[in-house]
Amino acid sequence: MQYQSTRDSSLRVSASEAIVRGLAPQSGLFVPECFPRADLEGWKHLSYPALAQKVLAGYLTDYRADFLQDATETTYGAAFGGNAGRTVKVQDGLYALELWHGPTCAFKDYALQLMPKLLVEAKHNLDRRETTRILVATSGDTGKAALAGYAGLEGIGIQVFYPNAGTSEIQRLQMATQTGDNVQVYAVQGNFDDAQTGVKKVFADESVAQELAGRNICLSSANSINWGRLAPQIVYYFYAYFRLVEQGAVAWGAPVDFCVPTGNFGDILAGYYAKQMGLPVGKLVCASNKNNVLTDFIRTGTYDARRTFYKTASPSMDILISSNLERLLFHLSGSSEKVRGWMQELAQTGVYTVDAETLAKIQEHFAAGFAGDEEGAAEIRTRFAQDNYLCDTHTAVAFRVAEECRREAPMVVLSTASPFKFPRDVLSALGSTAPESDFAAMAALTKKTGVQAPQSLRELDKLPVRFTQVIEPDNIRAAALG
Ligand SMILES: *Cc1c(COP(=O)(O)O)cnc(C)c1O
Repeated sequence: MQYQSTRDSSLRVSASEAIVRGLAPQSGLFVPECFPRADLEGWKHLSYPALAQKVLAGYLTDYRADFLQDATETTYGAAFGGNAGRTVKVQDGLYALELWHGPTCAFKDYALQLMPKLLVEAKHNLDRRETTRILVATSGDTGKAALAGYAGLEGIGIQVFYPNAGTSEIQRLQMATQTGDNVQVYAVQGNFDDAQTGVKKVFADESVAQELAGRNICLSSANSINWGRLAPQIVYYFYAYFRLVEQGAVAWGAPVDFCVPTGNFGDILAGYYAKQMGLPVGKLVCASNKNNVLTDFIRTGTYDARRTFYKTASPSMDILISSNLERLLFHLSGSSEKVRGWMQELAQTGVYTVDAETLAKIQEHFAAGFAGDEEGAAEIRTRFAQDNYLCDTHTAVAFRVAEECRREAPMVVLSTASPFKFPRDVLSALGSTAPESDFAAMAALTKKTGVQAPQSLRELDKLPVRFTQVIEPDNIRAAALG
């Protein structure tokens, strides 16, 4: 299996190279040249790690089988407490695929616990001996998931930059208490944009690359456009489908719809890959918050990013440019020329419109809807009152949209974060006044609902804080060179 670029279909690289390089030339994204065929009968009874190995082996064809077996077992076994891909019934025909039983209680663990191992092995496969230094700008969730994934790995260091006073108390402590000799965490004076712009500047700075090259260090990013982050997410669509069949919720071979709380379009795109591999997926429903650029796009074919950016109660979905959409456009239009044109228009004018044929194909596979903060809060309340099911603010958006889009097929909502990662918002949604402190809110949420908080979050205020440094955005460069 070789990889093409969304902006140059003549390019061909191996999986290892796609993962080491991250981005293709001219800002293209690497995509597989075809979809490996799923062996549904052979896979239906596999454990999560064993299934992950099968799915990934179809895409990462230059990786050794024993490496994939070992990596998937150590990633998705005990580290997920045996709950990887856990699928629970919320009501008849409505299910939650709970993706937050990993070490940092967010779905990003599925990708960020495995990708670092894929990167180390890719360097091995390509005989590259340099040290990799990962720089991450984060508004909260990605930082901890990346730190946890890269900590302690050989030949790799990671530096995370988050906005000082811009994250929740829990998110800050999750990062500041991270263990490992190869991790660094900095609070940046300013907001997320200041941190992100500072990190982008460092990536674009030739003098930084040169100085680091002299020390045999190569910069890299952990963001969600790397193929190594996308591929691991395909697995749980299969796993959830098999569990629904087991529970008698769907007949073997009949379609299931999935509703996905969406930001950068990575999670939902993985569902499209599963479908192309042969999984009976009906509609993939794209759920957005008030930043509903994707809802409009899927309904009309016009992607218009020229709009107000809202900060919402589902911050990981506060995105106006969804990078991974480019991969879908490449697969559906089959043309890197078209994709290049649309992406150029987006960069230059903030808007583009796809042709009617491409739009028809998008609508064949995808539906879309959105929900504001109030609707999301009402959904948290209703799901708990009616179904005794507690969900977080991101998942609530998807439940709301799922209701609008439900058909005869069973609907699976992807639940992307533990409700205890956002305890104050969830508690307010349930009608209680939230205390200032996240930890007090966590305890109050448990008292109100009887649901235990994950241990890793509960014990966070007992761990030693290792990182307290606050730097100016201008000093990100010096930190990256340190
Ligand atoms: C990142 C994230 C999302 C959005 O996922 P994408 O792959 O960016 O679409 C949704 N919910 C939570 C909790 C997240 O952390």
